[in-house]
Amino acid sequence: MSDTHQDAHEISRRAVLKSAAIGGAAFVAGGTVLTGCASDLQLHSVELLEAKGEWLSKRVWCLSGNKVLSAGAGSPMVATTAARQIYRPRSAEEISCVVRSLPANTAIACVGGGHESSNVAAFASSEAIVLDMAHLKSIEFRDDDQGTLVTVGAGVVFRELVEALKVHHGALPVGTGPGVGVVGFLVNGGLSGYFSRRLGLLGQRVEGMTIVTAAGDIRVLTRADELLTAMLGAGSALAIVVDVTIRMANEKVVQLAEQRVMAFESRAQAVEFSRGAVRFLRDRVLSNPSVSVEVVVTGTKVIVATLVFYDSFQGSAAEFVKPLEELAAGMKLPVVAQAHWTSWYETASALWPVINGQKGDPLATLQHCFGTEGMPADQHLDFVCDTVVGQSPLDEAELSIIEIRTLGGAALSGAKVPSGNCQHTFFVNLVTLYDAKPKTPQQRQEIVELTKRVVDKARLVEGLNVDFSGTHSQADDLDRSTAAAEMFGSEALAQTVKAMKSKMDPDNRLRFHPFAKFL
Ligand SMILES: Cc1cc2nc3c(=O)[nH]c(=O)nc-3n(C[C@H](O)[C@H](O)[C@H](O)COP(=O)(O)OP(=O)(O)OC[C@H]3O[C@@H](n4cnc5c(N)ncnc54)[C@H](O)[C@@H]3O)c2cc1C
Repeated sequence: MSDTHQDAHEISRRAVLKSAAIGGAAFVAGGTVLTGCASDLQLHSVELLEAKGEWLSKRVWCLSGNKVLSAGAGSPMVATTAARQIYRPRSAEEISCVVRSLPANTAIACVGGGHESSNVAAFASSEAIVLDMAHLKSIEFRDDDQGTLVTVGAGVVFRELVEALKVHHGALPVGTGPGVGVVGFLVNGGLSGYFSRRLGLLGQRVEGMTIVTAAGDIRVLTRADELLTAMLGAGSALAIVVDVTIRMANEKVVQLAEQRVMAFESRAQAVEFSRGAVRFLRDRVLSNPSVSVEVVVTGTKVIVATLVFYDSFQGSAAEFVKPLEELAAGMKLPVVAQAHWTSWYETASALWPVINGQKGDPLATLQHCFGTEGMPADQHLDFVCDTVVGQSPLDEAELSIIEIRTLGGAALSGAKVPSGNCQHTFFVNLVTLYDAKPKTPQQRQEIVELTKRVVDKARLVEGLNVDFSGTHSQADDLDRSTAAAEMFGSEALAQTVKAMKSKMDPDNRLRFHPFAKFL
């Protein structure tokens, strides 16, 4: 074991022992802490939530667009969890106690930030219990000889992690949503559109993890464990995460960022601007590892172009952005807002007010992604403009966004984790999003059909991959499924994940995750 691995092991091991000590029973055996319900820690001492009905509406950010089809227009969307019980554990030992106290075939669902698009864990089933991780809020920093490690509890969301990193002058490839769970993002292979080109996926920076297995054992994983790698893209199917230890980068990795917001009136204008912007993305940005770009087309009729300039960037950012400004000027699209950020923190938190403003009663969503492993060819770029931008339900689902992004860089060259997100150079995310309340069931169905039509067409484009991670796919889409090899990045990684699933969870207790079609 390298020093780094040993250090990560030690910090997690200490965290486990600390939490185990609260319950009073822990037996350490070769890095594995075996524990049961001690006499002073019984199931009834773990917090049990009584108000199940309210819980779901408070804990999920949105409802799946596939789950809002039957309620009548204007009527309240009745949505409640099917789970038998909801526990709110406060430590690894409390989780272990719940798991061991239940019959060995009881299904278990975990909820972290509550942002997964099919709500599979939050709805669960009548045979299942939910573990709501909301109390596991610890964020601990520690230096070793290679820099700084941060250990994050399973209830921490990105807003909390980003604020803590700011104090420590740190940076990480975080997700854009302030309320997205750090662990829920990481165990499903999450990516950062702004930072992954420079810092890799968050999972690629993980040094250790504390888990509770489906049998109730507490284990501390290091990079020497094959299971740790499998956890970093398929973990929601394999074990219950208590905390994760991540190697922090320095805030100086980001020099500055520029954002331009252009208004458009017709869909034809959005398509035409995208046609120029995706070629700028391919020809000027993908060849330059010191820059990333994200072009977002929204249902509210703006195009947001954000360029992030990393520490290695040399030259003038203002000059670099000019072709996009000229493209907008040539089309007479007014620049309605612009921003200039000079720190990682400002860039990481920039979209929080926008996301907080996306409201619905409830919000309904469908998530899909498209991308290429290498440089996108003209046919891929044309498809994105003509079909994704041209035909997605931006008018029908007014809060929808299409994110067109550069990936590759450190995400592509880093260690492979089982997520297609680290195999792709070019990435497009279609987020269908709307307030479901004023829509009739027919309108909601039409939004589903329009979205599916775009996804079905994408599957016919040679070299374009579709729905290749747990963070950017819609697990409850009926009769439409991607292949396990695409989801986990390769056939070999898919086989590794399947083997791990049989070994770690032979009774499939952990069945509420985005990979249920494969595992
Ligand atoms: C507004 C918004 C912004 C987003 N931004 C990004 C982005 O920038 N990049 C990106 O890649 N994705 C992004 N996503 C997608 C998001 O990362 C995924 O949906 C992620 O899985 C959500 O995690 P969560 O903990 O919030 O959700 P949850 O629904 O709580 O959990 C998601 C899944 O992870 C499992 N899980 C959660 N905690 C644990 C645990 N402790 N142990 C085991 N399994 C667990 C759950 O069982 C469930 O299957 C965004 C989503 C939204 C709605």
